[in-house]
Amino acid sequence: MLLRILLLSGIAGDHIIAQQHGGATKLDNLALACCYCNRYKGPNVASIDPHTGEVVALFNPRRHIWREHFVWQGARLSGLTDAGRATVQLLQINRADAVAVRQLLVEAGIFFVVR
Ligand SMILES: [Zn+2]
Repeated sequence: MLLRILLLSGIAGDHIIAQQHGGATKLDNLALACCYCNRYKGPNVASIDPHTGEVVALFNPRRHIWREHFVWQGARLSGLTDAGRATVQLLQINRADAVAVRQLLVEAGIFFVVR
């Protein structure tokens, strides 16, 4: 059932370290990602921190603690660290359509944040 839900939702296993960079198809290198995040991340392992302009490693969900790098501000996700900011920007997590959907879910009481 879970696999069926994941397939229908477009959620897939994404390689944290892409195979072209030597990343293995093993659980400790896979993360669930929606099709948009998967596509925007692509094979990237680093990006630019929009605050400093520096190249930084992306957030790694197997090594980093989510709440240390991100915070929800309503329907928008903000990066708290260089890795968080670079990841939010690269994955276009706050693109208009995603924020609009999240805002509707917030208003419906379906999407809420617990820190
Ligand atoms: Zn996503």
